[in-house]
Amino acid sequence: MNQEGKLIIFSAPSGAGKTTIVHHLLKKIPDLEFSISATTRQPRGDEEDGKDYYFITQESFLHRIAHKEFVEFEEVYAGTFYGTLRSEIERIWKKGKSVIFDIDVEGGLHLKRKYDGQALAVFVQPPSLEVLIERLTGRGTDSDEKLKERFAKAEKELKYAPQFDIILKNYDLQTACEEAEILVKNFLAP
Ligand code: 5GP
Repeated sequence: MNQEGKLIIFSAPSGAGKTTIVHHLLKKIPDLEFSISATTRQPRGDEEDGKDYYFITQESFLHRIAHKEFVEFEEVYAGTFYGTLRSEIERIWKKGKSVIFDIDVEGGLHLKRKYDGQALAVFVQPPSLEVLIERLTGRGTDSDEKLKERFAKAEKELKYAPQFDIILKNYDLQTACEEAEILVKNFLAP
């Protein structure tokens, strides 16, 4: 039986607001389920294992790469891996739901190419690099060194926007959430 379903990909530089938008969509659209990525980074704030991420060791991550368990993975930051497990997508499709991803820009484009025709890839655009830097700094959860790494990556990622199906401007979070809801509902409509 073909149990393949649809995929909704939200990508953006860290701090652009994509996680908030994805949480909003999950609340509003019951047909969606979040793809929990695996990562080797430590949990931040009130993050939970098996809810926000599968927090695994580098050894376990490398083992899974060797066993081809990822549909995509990346060393998003030096020494820190993130990846989407094939089993995660299948788990969600089996329930008859569509998968929603909160994933970095290169990972998002990778998935879009892999699942061409069944995926909607949305790039969340912050008002400017300056605003993005302010938002990232305001979080207060990362060291200065980590922040610098995030800024450099964000600057590079903003250039990928035109390769996505849609660019969603996040100048005002509530408006962006409402627009995202319309986009996704239209895409999922039979
Ligand atoms: P954070 O550490 O802020 O949670 O995530 C850092 C970046 O990694 C974000 O842009 C996030 O969306 C991305 N990310 C999360 N999961 C995955 C994944 O499975 N694959 C890839 N390529 N990136 C991911």
